[in-house]
Amino acid sequence: MSGSINHPVISEQEVIRPTRVEVDLKILEENFKKIKSHVGSSKVMPVLKANAYGHGLIRVAKLMQKLNADYLGVAVLEEGILLRNEGITIPILVLGGIWGNQIPLFIKNDLTITASSIDKLNQIEAVSSQMKKRAKVHLKIDTGMERIGVHHYNAEKLLRASIDCKNIDVEGVYSHFASSDSSDLTFSKLQVERFEEAFSFYEKQSIPQPIKHISNSGAILQMPETNFDMVRPGIMLYGVYPSSEVKKSIEVRPALSWKSLVVYFKIIRAGSFVGYGMKWKAEHDVRAVTVPLGYGDGYLRSMSHKAEVLIRGNRFPVVGVISMDQIVVNIENNSAYNGDEVILIGADGTTSITVEELAEWAGTIPYEILTNINTRVPRIYIE
Ligand SMILES: *Cc1c(COP(=O)(O)O)cnc(C)c1O
Repeated sequence: MSGSINHPVISEQEVIRPTRVEVDLKILEENFKKIKSHVGSSKVMPVLKANAYGHGLIRVAKLMQKLNADYLGVAVLEEGILLRNEGITIPILVLGGIWGNQIPLFIKNDLTITASSIDKLNQIEAVSSQMKKRAKVHLKIDTGMERIGVHHYNAEKLLRASIDCKNIDVEGVYSHFASSDSSDLTFSKLQVERFEEAFSFYEKQSIPQPIKHISNSGAILQMPETNFDMVRPGIMLYGVYPSSEVKKSIEVRPALSWKSLVVYFKIIRAGSFVGYGMKWKAEHDVRAVTVPLGYGDGYLRSMSHKAEVLIRGNRFPVVGVISMDQIVVNIENNSAYNGDEVILIGADGTTSITVEELAEWAGTIPYEILTNINTRVPRIYIE
């Protein structure tokens, strides 16, 4: 069980695989502290879903706990259980929806549940009363994302019902932005209005107000007035901005590099084709190297004919269609040797390749690139 998300591969194999992700924990720490100081007295919930955006769930969680993060956010129950099994003791909110039969596991593992409807709330109440153990819940209000959560115009019913639940501690109430990383914040402002309106229910009650939170990276960067009691930074914690147009009001640096080694060198003769489907042809004799990674590691096939890598500080194109486990790099008449470092994401001296570039080559967003670097690639941590 331990490590089934983080390290599914036999560990001896991991250390000898030339393809690896390096995560700089000092940079992660720096990013966290910058966010923390920027949001002042608001609590911080680092979001660690999808293997901590590819950075490795457990190590990132341990670091965040050491740095006194107030809460951790994950997407699914299994991520929360894994963290509990690895000794994480700070509060963990599971942001995704729940199935009824998962509720006992939430309660048993002291994981905070997202209650997104009165029906779910009642299920939680029933199970916790049966187990004679209190459940911790955050209520989810849908202010315009239309994923999960009770609609803002019906929220009062959920909030009121939660007060009557004798076995549930309502620790928080939250919502989620649909486009806080856009340069146009009109809709985000409307969402905040709806959220405030729903939350104002508590002003008329004589009970302590739950933790009020809505801000993801985009809002932390662009709408500091919505920090409220807690913020939920995801992508910016890892040093990547949520969009190209977002205001970069907090300076963060990427913590992740993706590297491999040259494992094969050859000369490709003029007229020869490279790779499946014979999609690239050498017009003249070229030097080329083979690097042991591919779409089976999350180096997306859709980057074929666009991707570039760094070898010895120079950029070279990946040629031919990206295979599952190998890519071929055209170094023209330059030199490279077996064992030379190949950088897929990261810096080499003054040149670098960013996750944003990979996203552009693949026609996607940085989030998808990071979360697709899969568990076959070992994570190495730099302290
Ligand atoms: C993923 C997620 C976040 C973090 O979003 P970023 O854009 O990565 O900062 C915050 N809240 C919820 C509910 C999420 O699902």
